[in-house]
Amino acid sequence: MDNVIISPDSRIHIKTSGCCNNNCIFCCDRDCINGQNMLSKYYCSVNGEPFLNLDMFKRDGRKTKEVDSISFTGGESTLNKGLLYFIRLSKKWGYKDICLQTNGRLLRYKNFCIELLDSGLNEINISLHGSNKKIHDALTRSSGAFEQTWQGLCNMVSLKEKYRFRLNVNFTMTKINYRDIENFLRKILPFNKVDSIVLNMPMYSGNAERFFSQLFVTYLDVAKEVRNVIDRLKVDKLFRLSGVIQISPVPLCLMVGYENYVGESEIPLQVKNKRVEILPRESRNIKNKSCKPCKYYYKCSGIDNLYAEKVGWGEFRAIK
Ligand code: SF4
Ligand code: SF4
Repeated sequence: MDNVIISPDSRIHIKTSGCCNNNCIFCCDRDCINGQNMLSKYYCSVNGEPFLNLDMFKRDGRKTKEVDSISFTGGESTLNKGLLYFIRLSKKWGYKDICLQTNGRLLRYKNFCIELLDSGLNEINISLHGSNKKIHDALTRSSGAFEQTWQGLCNMVSLKEKYRFRLNVNFTMTKINYRDIENFLRKILPFNKVDSIVLNMPMYSGNAERFFSQLFVTYLDVAKEVRNVIDRLKVDKLFRLSGVIQISPVPLCLMVGYENYVGESEIPLQVKNKRVEILPRESRNIKNKSCKPCKYYYKCSGIDNLYAEKVGWGEFRAIK
């Protein structure tokens, strides 16, 4: 394997769907020109059907001895009718961690949630981008999305009583919603059943590139907001925050004193010709030459390349 460092957290990512029932303004899977085509469509399409099929899954998903974790991604994975079968097969092949990334809208059907867990799913990441309908539906550009995803999250929370699985919620931070982070956290934390709440910076490709000027918020402003929110939540002493709230990927120089809250960004993997390799992506994170003396250099995930090109490096300072 060239240039691939496998850690216990490494995952094979499997694109299962070339379509989605949301239309997020920051979607990095939609093409940058008109935002209609899903880039995953080019991977998934067979005979005009934009979904991964069993032959492709057997080719690209089969377990290798190096990696124990698999993640089903999209477009939107739950639209693929073969998903339950893929999960069962993953379990049979010996994957220990079987994860689904979803916008959560179809999880409003509790029976479907039960089928997913009975099939062997043991980690689920639900994307929710606001504390209310107005913000989430505006960002997903899908009327009714908030209510459905919220119902899906409540269903999964209720199933924690019976099943053992990790439940994570992902919130993508943009100019439109980053001031809502506190309300969002105050809505999710009381469940006391959500294992992690990940506050993500967008990957500036696809729609996120197309709508960059409407969406982008500086890393500095986001970091300040998150630090202030954490301070206010700490005063209440109501919830466990450390290990639950993660901000990612945000450079550690902006989170000094709050390093525990910075999540490590995952390097997604794929299997090609029976070899594990890094999944190619349009957006990538980089560091600057001024970063070289920084004590966090090797731990820091850097910043998005398009952001660096458009906004520059003025807000980052090497920490000695
Ligand atoms: S839910 Fe995910 S795949 Fe669907 S439009 Fe939004 S970001 Fe893209
Ligand atoms: S100075 Fe550079 S390497 Fe150091 S934390 Fe900031 S962005 Fe990362």
